[in-house]
Amino acid sequence: MKITDHISQAKDTLVSFEVLPPLKGRTIQSIYDHLNPLMEFKPSFINVTYHRSETMFKKKGDGTFEKVEVRKRPGTVAICAAIKNHYNIDTVPHLICGGFSKRVTEDALIDLNFLGIDNVLVLRGDAAKNETNFEPEPDGHAYAVDLLKQVVNLKNGIYQEEDIKNGEKPDFCIGTAGYPEKHFEAPNLQTDLLHLKDKVDAGADYIMTQMFFDNEKFFQFVKDCRAIGITVPIIPGLKPLTNKKQLTILPKIFHVDIPTDLSDAISKAKTDQDVEEIGTKWLVQQSKELMAFGVPVLHYYTLGKPKVIYNVVKEIK
Ligand code: FAD
Repeated sequence: MKITDHISQAKDTLVSFEVLPPLKGRTIQSIYDHLNPLMEFKPSFINVTYHRSETMFKKKGDGTFEKVEVRKRPGTVAICAAIKNHYNIDTVPHLICGGFSKRVTEDALIDLNFLGIDNVLVLRGDAAKNETNFEPEPDGHAYAVDLLKQVVNLKNGIYQEEDIKNGEKPDFCIGTAGYPEKHFEAPNLQTDLLHLKDKVDAGADYIMTQMFFDNEKFFQFVKDCRAIGITVPIIPGLKPLTNKKQLTILPKIFHVDIPTDLSDAISKAKTDQDVEEIGTKWLVQQSKELMAFGVPVLHYYTLGKPKVIYNVVKEIK
C-alpha cells in the first residue's frame, strides 16, 4: 500500500520507523531483533536507507596500495523485501542518484515492482568520501529531481530501453527529502524551497524531512512550503539525542541546530543514562507538539537506538 494511502485512510497520527542495513558480516536477524520491540506500535511503514560503496586503499603484501570499492551496508532492496515478508508491513527503500546509472536505476525499480514494493524515497545522495562535491555517474542523475522524473516516466510506461513499446506502468508512490533548516549546499532557504517545489511539481507525493530538534523550524518550514503552493503531506523525521558527542557531530554532519535549552541540559548531564533521559524527554515533547500541529506521520530514525524510540512512542501512543 502506498504511503499516501496510509495517510489518507488514517484516523490518527501514524508512526513509522527507519533502519540502516546492518554492517556486512551481520544477518537479517539483526534487523528483526532491532525492529521486533517496535512492532508493538503497529508502524505503517519502515524505511531502509541506502549506502553507496566507498573507495578505499588497501595495503598489499609488497607495501603498495590497491584501490578497492567496499560496500559496508549492502542490501537495501533485499531488506525491504524481507521486512515486508516477515512482518507483512510496507517498506520504503531509499533510492539515490550517487553511483547509479539510469539503466541500473531502472533495473532496481523493476526489481522493486517484482517484489511488490510500491514506495520509494528518491534522493540525490551525498558526495562520495573521496569527492569534494557530488559527482553523478556519467549516465546518471545530478539532482534528485532528475531521478524523480525517471521514476515518473516509468510510472507512465516510458523506459530507458527505447524499443520497449507499450511498456507496463509500475505505480510507485514517491517521497522526497525536505530540509527545515536548509540543505547545506543551498545558498539560502528560499532557493532550497523552490528546488523542493520543483521535486513536488515533478511528481513527488510527499515530503520527508531531515531531523530537527526545534519544532518551530518545522512549523515555519511547513508554512513556507504551503505559501509557495506545496500541498503534499510533510512528514517530520525525528531522532533522539543520546550522547554528548552528538552535540557537535549532528550539526557537523546533518547541518542542524541544537536548541540552547537542550544543549545546555545535555552538557550538564553527568552520565550517559542522564543524556538518554534528557534526549527521550525532549523527543516525547517534540512528538506531542507535532501531533497537536497535525502532522500525518511521526517518522523516527531508529539508528541503533530502538530502546529509546520504544520509550518515546510508548509515552505518546
Ligand atoms: P536534491 O534535492 O537534489 O538537492 C541537493 C542540493 O541541490 C540542494 O542544496 C538543492 O537546493 C540543490 N538543487 C536541487 N535541484 C537543483 C537544481 N536543479 N539546480 C541547482 N541546485 C539544485 N543519503 C543517502 O546516501 N542515503 C539515504 O538513505 C539517505 N536518506 C535520507 C533521508 C532523508 C529523509 C533525508 C532528508 C536525507 C537523506 N539522505 C540520504 C541524505 C541526502 O542524500 C543528502 O542530504 C543529499 O546531499 C541531498 O539529497 P536530496 O535528495 O535532498 O538532493
